[in-house]
Amino acid sequence: MPYDPQNIFARILRGEIPCRKVFEDAHVLAFHDINPQTPTHVLVIPKGAYVSFDDFSAHATAEEIAAFVRAAGQIARGAGLAGPGYRVLSNIGQDGHQEVPHFHLHIFGGRPLGRMVPKAD
Ligand code: AMP
Repeated sequence: MPYDPQNIFARILRGEIPCRKVFEDAHVLAFHDINPQTPTHVLVIPKGAYVSFDDFSAHATAEEIAAFVRAAGQIARGAGLAGPGYRVLSNIGQDGHQEVPHFHLHIFGGRPLGRMVPKAD
């Protein structure tokens, strides 16, 4: 899937839409999810134009990948989640139910999170 520069996270990166920023550096932006599923629900996105984890893992530079992973851990620690625990998750494509086609990591925490995914019917 080609990158759509009009996706909502691209617009946040360009400052066209506001966000509740948690973290920013040269490669990464993180902000609170607009519809939080847990007491802490932060989205971490690379500034580069990557559609999904699949795209990012295949095409991002080592510097971008290192910055992204370091930032995600730092954000979770900064939110006080490292002690009690938390979950990182990325939805990819149709089966993964990805809604926004700009790679993002969800950081969920602030309460016990239960099982990873619902069991199939
Ligand atoms: P996903 O299904 O992994 O693509 O999740 C997209 C996430 O983006 C959802 O949790 C939405 O609540 C969140 N979201 C959509 N628009 C915004 C926005 N303008 N600011 C913050 N979060 C958003």
